[in-house]
Amino acid sequence: MFIRSESKKKREMRVREIMKRLDAHYGDRPMIFLEAENAWQLLFATILSAQCTDARVNMVTEKLFVKYKDLQAFVDCDLKELEEDIHSTGFYHNKAKNMKACAKALVEEYGGEVPRNIEALTGLPGVGRKTGNLILGNIYHIPSIVVDTHVKRISNRLGLADSPDPTKVEFQLMEHLPEEFWIRWNTHIIALGRTLCTSQNPKCGECYLQDLCPSSKKDPETWRPVGERKTVGKKKTAAKKATMKKSLEV
Ligand code: SF4
Repeated sequence: MFIRSESKKKREMRVREIMKRLDAHYGDRPMIFLEAENAWQLLFATILSAQCTDARVNMVTEKLFVKYKDLQAFVDCDLKELEEDIHSTGFYHNKAKNMKACAKALVEEYGGEVPRNIEALTGLPGVGRKTGNLILGNIYHIPSIVVDTHVKRISNRLGLADSPDPTKVEFQLMEHLPEEFWIRWNTHIIALGRTLCTSQNPKCGECYLQDLCPSSKKDPETWRPVGERKTVGKKKTAAKKATMKKSLEV
């Protein structure tokens, strides 16, 4: 939900303040939750992470990337054996099929390199915009926004997106966030989503973004940049006193 009365300039000031606080809590570099040593490993770890925790994926890939040392190993592998190797991540039939097909496409069409643009990435089997943007940002440092369930939910709550559709949210965020924030928005928001801004019962009372968030109990229309708050309050109090004084003057 957007804040209807918020101008572009005010939104940018609010976004910068949100990012300042997120950076203060989680550092000013994107965090990496999936362990990988190169682009194709991160790509495959991300395919495995669908409907699975990062901790479980890291446990599986620790052995997987020792057994399958390069893309050709996935191309040549027995599909059933690969399914068994990744079984505990869930949806293993589709994931194994996609990984094998993806490895084949990377070897045959891209000379074993992971491409550097979203169109080519999303043309690979099992790769959507979320995975594609993750590779662009984390491997190639190309500004891109990864929209997962946390980013979708919290960007809407923060009034920086207005849609349940991840692609629409990605484009709305590209419009509202300065480019320098794009890559780390995802991991910062995941960290916030796992601790305070949970899907059910967000802990707004403990949240350090409460005064900047239209979904908190505070009235979003009252948000003002830090330096302006007291002045506004004083002006309001002075105006109120003047009205009261006038009403007493008969
Ligand atoms: S104030 Fe509440 S809804 Fe807003 S970001 Fe914090 S926890 Fe989420």
